Parts: sequence; C-alpha cells; structure tokens
Amino acid sequence: MIDLIGINKYYKNAEETLHVLKDVNLHVAKGEMIAIMGPSGSGKSTLINLLGFIDRKFEGTYLFEGESLVASSDDRLSKVRNQTVGFVFQNFSLIENNTVYENVELPLLYGGYSFSQTKEKVMAALKRVGLEGKEDKYPKQLSGGQQQRVAIARSIINNPKFIIADEPTGALDTHTSEEIMRLFEELNQQDGATIILVTHDPEVVPYCHRLIRIRDGAIIEDKELSKE
Ligand code: ADP
Ligand code: ADP
Repeated sequence: MIDLIGINKYYKNAEETLHVLKDVNLHVAKGEMIAIMGPSGSGKSTLINLLGFIDRKFEGTYLFEGESLVASSDDRLSKVRNQTVGFVFQNFSLIENNTVYENVELPLLYGGYSFSQTKEKVMAALKRVGLEGKEDKYPKQLSGGQQQRVAIARSIINNPKFIIADEPTGALDTHTSEEIMRLFEELNQQDGATIILVTHDPEVVPYCHRLIRIRDGAIIEDKELSKE
C-alpha cells in the first residue's frame, strides 16, 4: 500500500541545513499495525507528516497504492488526505465548543452526504468505539480515554485506508492506555485497519506486529513482532 523509496528530507534555515530523514525505505502492506519508536528529534513527526500527505517537500519517492502524489495540487492532496488517512493525536485535538457528534462528523463535511447518511455514519463510528449515547456531550464532559475514543471515531469515519496515531496513549494512564490499545487492536484485527503508531511507550509495542526504530533520521531497526 505504502512504499517509501530513498526518502531524504532537509530543513533549511539561514545558518544551516538539517538532514532530518536519511535514505528512508519503508514498505507498509495493507492490514499492518506498526509501532514507530525513536528519541525526541529523531524525525518521527517528519516521517508521519510525509506519510499522511501533509508534507510533500522531500527527496525520493513516495508511492501510495503505486501512485505518487507529489505533483498533485494542494486541493487534490487535501482531498486525498481526507479520504485516505485518519489522524489520532496525543491530545485528542477535539473542538471543545463542538459536541461529540459535531467532532466526529467533521471529516464528512465536504463529502456531500445527506443529513441521514451523516447521522448513520457518526452513530456507527461512535458505536464502534464504545461511545453510544455520548453524541450530545462536549469533550470536557468526558474522561481522557473517552475523548481519545471520540478522536478515533473521527479518524475512522471516512473509512480511511490507514490510520496514523501520534502518541495516542501519551496523555492517558496505564489502564486507559491499555483500553485504547485494545481498541486499535480490534480495529486492526476485526476491521482490517492499517495502523501506524508513533509512541514512546514500550507498553504499546506488544499490540503491534512490527516495530520500527528511528534514530537521527534513519531507520535503525525494522522487525516483525510475534504476537501470542
Ligand atoms: P497492498 O499493500 O496494496 O495490499 P502490498 O503492499 O503487499 O499490497 O504490495 C504492494 C507492492 O509492494 C507489490 O508490488 C509488492 O511486490 C511490493 N512489495 C512487497 N513487499 C515489499 C517490500 N518489503 N519492499 C518493497 N516492496 C515490496
Ligand atoms: P520527532 O517527531 O522524532 O521528535 P521531528 O520530526 O519533529 O522529530 O524533528 C526532527 C528534526 O527536525 C529535529 O531536529 C527538529 O528540530 C527538526 N525540525 C522539525 N520540524 C522543523 C521545521 N519545521 N523547521 C526546521 N526544523 C525542524
């Protein structure tokens, strides 16, 4: 599904050029669940911005389902991003003044869906993450784990080809982290979701099939994990 071939990424400022991704090669097949680990500043965010079609200023080739999108217009790229990738963040990134329903429906707004189609999709996504009946709540009325479930519902609402989760358990306690990781595991195993997860948390790794370690912009380890 995803092929990164010889990717190099530089940040240039007046004084210096930072080489932040160094000859990165990565193949991700449909249905994988991958943990990416690495120290702060090692290039993880840069890598996921590139994977998630947020950044297309890089050297090398990114093929998504065999196609390169670097030459696409900004409009096309946002459209592809909206329909292809679900994002989940450490701090949930919910709109506080919007209800759970309004937060989850956001990615659908430009899809031309009717009210009833939208409602059906939102309710199904909320049910999928275990938040039936919470649609009229505001984020502040929910626990951290529930807020992350809202964010996950939002991330799956467009049936994305893959999900990028950036430190999804970073703001959660151990027990809640486990619940969220079990949800990701279900989405992967039952629904076939492809999940790329950036994490500092070693407890997250056993839920994944594959571990990639990145250091100073280079992949230093890429291994399959056996799951019991
Ligand atoms: P999809 O993700 O579309 O279901 P795959 O990812 O398995 O299918 O395969 C996509 C393409 O990537 C195929 O042409 C396959 O030969 C190629 N491919 C498979 N494994 C690797 C790998 N480890 N490195 C590079 N290319 C690969
Ligand atoms: P990580 O997510 O692993 O912490 P990042 O991808 O955020 O790493 O950063 C990799 C390197 O690139 C760091 O040295 C960081 O300071 C630098 N960097 C990140 N974003 C920018 C930017 N927009 N401009 C200049 N340098 C950046």
